Amino acid sequence: MPSEDIRTSLGLRPVINVSGTMTSLGASIVVPEAIAAMTSILPQFVEMNDLQRKASAVIARLTGGEAGFVTASCAAGITLAIAGTITGSDLLAIEKLPSVSTEKNEVLVQMGHIVSYGAPVDQSIRLAGAKTVMIGQATSTHRYHMENAITEKTAAALYVVSHHVVDYGLLKLTEFVEIARAKSVPVIVDAASEYDLRSFLEQGADIVLYSGHKFLGGPTSGIVAGRKDLVRNAFLQNMGIGRGMKVGKESVFGLMAALEAWEKRDHDGIRARETSYLHLWRDTLENRPGVTALIEPDPTGNPLDRMRVIVSAHEAHITAWDLADALARGTPPVIVRDHEVEHHYFYLDPCNLHPGQETIVANRLAEELDKASASNDIIATPLENRSKHRFDGALRWPD
Ligand SMILES: *Cc1c(COP(=O)(O)O)cnc(C)c1O
Repeated sequence: MPSEDIRTSLGLRPVINVSGTMTSLGASIVVPEAIAAMTSILPQFVEMNDLQRKASAVIARLTGGEAGFVTASCAAGITLAIAGTITGSDLLAIEKLPSVSTEKNEVLVQMGHIVSYGAPVDQSIRLAGAKTVMIGQATSTHRYHMENAITEKTAAALYVVSHHVVDYGLLKLTEFVEIARAKSVPVIVDAASEYDLRSFLEQGADIVLYSGHKFLGGPTSGIVAGRKDLVRNAFLQNMGIGRGMKVGKESVFGLMAALEAWEKRDHDGIRARETSYLHLWRDTLENRPGVTALIEPDPTGNPLDRMRVIVSAHEAHITAWDLADALARGTPPVIVRDHEVEHHYFYLDPCNLHPGQETIVANRLAEELDKASASNDIIATPLENRSKHRFDGALRWPD
């Protein structure tokens, strides 16, 4: 950790992130190579399309795609890639978006893939002037749903890879691709938070999208990669709706450096370090009444394990959500992964910790659990209170 913490001078809480790569916490730790690259290019002028040509070569090398470019975010990538499938290279049509003069603007998505990554997936589709056509039901999509939904109005099909999506009963990517291909519909894969930079194109996707600021440890940015004509048509949107999703030279070059660092990264060494954190936390939580700590693999197959901390309020004298909230309120604030806390567990994600923070996390867990078990009362705030007040802070902003 840097010795001088910029957050202190800004008056910001020095949060410790055990929740993963969260936009609301500043995404991820940016790798030193990317920071150096951004610093080196910021004072210079460059011809941006040429810089993006260089980025294309790096992205192509790492993803196996024919071409690629850098945009503001993966969400921006969804919008631009879909816009490209609607307008082609027609510059006037690009200027007119989000008004669309063709009927061919439908985008197929499985209902179980319409999730929120902080904003709804289907909004990034609609921003391109497209219509979302949901296929199947929340937990089931069959071939006939997709085959019958494809018409002459279909511009593209979007496939979302995420721990947020329904994980059973839906079409697998290979089948999704096979059905789309048979009718020449391009497949766009949102792989924002995936380590594997090659497999989705290898499975037949025409375009794949990643976040630059998640596992890659780059600046806030997104990657669009794949078939050259489709990537170009998405890139051309920078003369239209892409302007509001502009990416600067520092992000393009920073992401190129992050990708090159990714190629050389000691992935096994990092995994071993993360595993040692998980073992420390397991030792801390072992034999505590009402607490079960399980080490679990990432649900989409990323090479990452997390710890599921299951809390039984009766024995631990605190609910899982009250424990999560106590950790977040504490000094220093420790932010856990609490999407599923209604099921009486949260996760500890080791992938965004600076060395030494794992011990602080262990100590804070022990302190709060000791405090709860010494208390005669069970700390159990109704869960409804939490959801009722969830957006209070945002709605008061900037106060
Ligand atoms: C994070 C995420 C996004 C959004 O990525 P940004 O780069 O932050 O816009 C989109 N889709 C999925 C599945 C995600 O996990």
